[in-house]
Amino acid sequence: MKRNLYDLTREELEKYFEEIGEKKFKALQVYEWLYQKREVNIDNFSNIKKEIRDRLKEDFTTNFIKIEKKEEAELVKKYLFRLHDDNFIEAVIMYHDYGNSICVSSQVGCNMGCRFCESGRQKKIRNLEAYEMVEQILKVEEDLNIRISSVVIMGIGEPLDNFDNIVRFIKIINDGKGIQIGARHITLSTCGLVPKIYELANIGIQINLAISLHASNDELRSKLMPVNKVYSIGVLKQAISDYLQVTSRRVTIEYVMLNNVNDRVSNALELAKLFKGMNIYVNLIPYNETEALEFKRSSKDNIKTFYDTLKKNGINVTIRKEFGGTIKAACGQLRGSMKRK
Ligand code: SAH
Repeated sequence: MKRNLYDLTREELEKYFEEIGEKKFKALQVYEWLYQKREVNIDNFSNIKKEIRDRLKEDFTTNFIKIEKKEEAELVKKYLFRLHDDNFIEAVIMYHDYGNSICVSSQVGCNMGCRFCESGRQKKIRNLEAYEMVEQILKVEEDLNIRISSVVIMGIGEPLDNFDNIVRFIKIINDGKGIQIGARHITLSTCGLVPKIYELANIGIQINLAISLHASNDELRSKLMPVNKVYSIGVLKQAISDYLQVTSRRVTIEYVMLNNVNDRVSNALELAKLFKGMNIYVNLIPYNETEALEFKRSSKDNIKTFYDTLKKNGINVTIRKEFGGTIKAACGQLRGSMKRK
């Protein structure tokens, strides 16, 4: 099968041109067509001679993922994409005062099996290729006629379970001649695949790391997130600490607020004790209830008390602003409703 041109880092494209006996600066020209001029038709790469364009067309496609469905609210848009093999994934766009952000998916389904997560119920079908992540951004920018300034890898899938493609994706969007998303504007969220966190610290692009913790002790976390039986809170904490050392980037601890499950004051105290003195901040996420699962969202009062307790105990904490409740913006819900049909 032909490779997709959006799947290559500039380095890989340089190597390709060298292999076919051409100058490697052609990679830069191709990148300018793809990412600056947004030209999808290789025939229109007018500063590249026809012979090479023909060769490019033989070796690559520029096929795009397709918009299947779109749901819109004022400050948030949600896209359901159809992939070439008729699988579906989602992306969500949020408008902030500081710019537009996109939440991209990294896999079709997910194998991590978090009990409260809609995507976790639907087993992983396959990894996304880098181009399928790049194209989520390009397609949305085209459709809404906007530029996206920050990217969170927090949609369907466990990104660190698709490591090589994720790194390629990050390199492509971070490239100074590509979409030019700065490392500080890229955030990867993981359930805690510890060995891959160490690898991520060393890719040379210092992105923000978010850890889905969701529990304040191992017993509770293992019940909610099977991954904790393999990498417990202790080893995860060590990995976070090392990530902070290597990258000097602040790490976010995500904590989804589940009614009567993990939202007691005792949980907040435990959490504060765990991370006291570390350069992290906790993001409390009001749970998005989903039809198929029994978990409920914590009450506003409980969330506020939890927040106050963390604060009083020296932890930086925010409550996630809500965007998508009315449009099924929670991870995997749109894809889930598509599959149920
Ligand atoms: N696998 C990665 C990224 C995808 S999930 C991870 O675990 O971080 C993105 C975030 O959404 C995770 O923190 C996940 O636990 C959380 N999440 C999943 N279902 C949710 C729901 N229904 N409501 C709120 N947050 C949810």
